[in-house]
Amino acid sequence: MSGGRYIQNKYKKMAAKILLFGGLMLVGLGSCRDAGQRASRRDSSVLDTVVGPAGLTLVFSGDIMQHLPQVNAARQPDGTYDYSACFRYIRPFWEYADFAVVNLETTLSYTGPYSGYPRFSSPAALAVALRDAGVDVVALANNHSCDRGERGIRTTLRVADSLGLQCVGAYADSIQATRPLILEKKPFRVALLNATYSTNGLPVPQGMKVHMLDTLRMAREVAAARKQHATHVVLFAHWGEEYQQQPHAAQRRVADWCRRQGIDVVVGSHPHVAQPIDTAARVVWSLGNFVSNQRKRYQDGGLNVRIRLFLHRPPRVEMLPHWVWKAAEEGRYRYYILPAYAAGMVAGMDSADHQTFLQSLDDNRTVAGAVDEVVL
Ligand SMILES: [Zn+2]
Repeated sequence: MSGGRYIQNKYKKMAAKILLFGGLMLVGLGSCRDAGQRASRRDSSVLDTVVGPAGLTLVFSGDIMQHLPQVNAARQPDGTYDYSACFRYIRPFWEYADFAVVNLETTLSYTGPYSGYPRFSSPAALAVALRDAGVDVVALANNHSCDRGERGIRTTLRVADSLGLQCVGAYADSIQATRPLILEKKPFRVALLNATYSTNGLPVPQGMKVHMLDTLRMAREVAAARKQHATHVVLFAHWGEEYQQQPHAAQRRVADWCRRQGIDVVVGSHPHVAQPIDTAARVVWSLGNFVSNQRKRYQDGGLNVRIRLFLHRPPRVEMLPHWVWKAAEEGRYRYYILPAYAAGMVAGMDSADHQTFLQSLDDNRTVAGAVDEVVL
């Protein structure tokens, strides 16, 4: 393929399920001609509800932090690492989207030594679990991209590549860095951009690129995306003031610039807390922490968004709050991402944790503002 990187979506997998579902509907409803006509109409409306054939669904989850207690929690008795339990409940949200994107705010290593804040290095098994739970794209431009220098970026890219995960925002060579990531599901071609405000003062290793929130560079990227017939351009921005629940002036300036460039949707992360969602401007100011060891109110959960893109109408943004349950099990901790739709299905939680869970969901609904909540 020339001039760009393309990624196949999960549509084929979904389509097989839908065909089966649609076929069953037709078998059930096609017993007379009138019913058959109704069935074809009804069938298409069912399909609309399930996959939105006229649209493309893109879901974003926030910052995947890896503090050392989380690494220790994933360690198995045989010394290997397993994160699969962590993403068990969020999995349907990721799997049923055409493309699921997360911000990987750590670097990966096959062998360790692993480290938490301030220079993150985490087991490659983290990416295995993300891929297995339905993540398609890991965004790598954040203030921890350069925590482990050249080796950290190179290994992170290698791990992702070996798993079939697409990367955006950090690159091992400068030519690849000029090619926007295009997420394709016919007739859609969505250019996904990813950039960060900073790399915490650490230099980007020679020969490598980490995309910065530099409007001159981003303008070239948007132009390259248009040249490649992108139907939409979406920016995942790593920005904002830590622990602030409202966007600051620098975020607003970048968002204004994006609007003038015709960027369809901007999704932000980094502040460790969620910020509002502006559905009219289609700016998600901050998703907050997706998973971390931060346990204070507003930091122990966050927001996810589902964006539906259409060819002839504006995108639609829905939100899904979640809480991170740090559960004590058999003398150790486990971390579970609990989305709102899992509120009624988690066994083994004591009433104090359950209260905190419900409070966190409500907190993040309030922060998000008037936005429809995702129903799976
Ligand atoms: Zn950050």
